Amino acid sequence: MQGLDELLKTNAVYDKLLRVLNSKGSIPHAFLLYGSDEAALTALAELTAKSIMCGCGACNTCLKVDKKVHTDVMYYPKGDKAFLVEDALEVTDSMYTLPYEGGKKVYILNFGANANQQSQNKLLKSLEEPARDVVFIITSTNIASVLATIKSRTTKFAVAAFERNALKKFVTVNFASTNAELISEVSGGKVTNAIKYATDSGFEARLKLVFGLLTELTHSSKMIGYLEQLNKEKSRFGEVLELFSAVVGGAINSPSSKGWMSSDSEDRRGSQTESLQNIHPATPWHPSNLEGNYRAQYSSILSAFGLLGLSQLVKLTTEVQERIVRNSNFNATLDYFLLKILEVRFNANFSSIG
Ligand SMILES: [Zn+2]
Repeated sequence: MQGLDELLKTNAVYDKLLRVLNSKGSIPHAFLLYGSDEAALTALAELTAKSIMCGCGACNTCLKVDKKVHTDVMYYPKGDKAFLVEDALEVTDSMYTLPYEGGKKVYILNFGANANQQSQNKLLKSLEEPARDVVFIITSTNIASVLATIKSRTTKFAVAAFERNALKKFVTVNFASTNAELISEVSGGKVTNAIKYATDSGFEARLKLVFGLLTELTHSSKMIGYLEQLNKEKSRFGEVLELFSAVVGGAINSPSSKGWMSSDSEDRRGSQTESLQNIHPATPWHPSNLEGNYRAQYSSILSAFGLLGLSQLVKLTTEVQERIVRNSNFNATLDYFLLKILEVRFNANFSSIG
């Protein structure tokens, strides 16, 4: 993907990796890259493999690594499967054959969110007694699922969130999206989300729905319309919640919120909420101008719910996500979700009037 290497270079983890890869001594035989951003982990693992093989970025070797056709760079598991015992066994068995093209042999092992213990234990021996010239690059989206015995035999690198501007540039370069700013805003610093949103034809509609829940759901009489819309998104309700949480987070971190937080007394907060409402009247929704007016939307969301209310909405999102995971009745969960939003909004208005 165009500009992905450029984007990775803006992450603090890149400099750390570079220092290790360029150090005078021999490079570690096992890397563990971890974080919740799967696309970034995969890309970083490939960039690391390329650096180990050569790193110039222009030669035949580098191009082969880029195209995933280098015979000495191997990927496990194959396809979309989880990392299984047979993968670990194949790694152990093939480890001792010499590199085809000379130089190093690199195994990129994607543990995903939950590689099972048995397969990790099978791999352990290879990490303890690695063959000469073999380098392991393990990626994990859930460091808690990686065995301590594996962790202790690897050099660990955490992938931090990406800067919003760097993500925006990446989205602009790669996708014909008119929402680069907005996508970078709601992606939570994750390349995975930025790619998902930029390639999702339903993104704008879902986002409009989320902004609607936070700006237009002001009375229980409006619930029925939103229940219908959310029901249509049933199969992708997880993504609706993810966006909801991102927009609430955006409102909490919006510039007007920072000014508000810096005030010291409760009374002052109350009066500032009112003045915020005066400065930022509720902005009418223009779907065609999503990109332009979301900051104004943040302001009206902030003044409607207040910081306390927004923090309650963050908790509500987690709670609803848990209900979905537990397979609770979907319609009852939707009812609960909308009623809670109304309740939080009502309480925020009540306390700012009183
Ligand atoms: Zn090269």
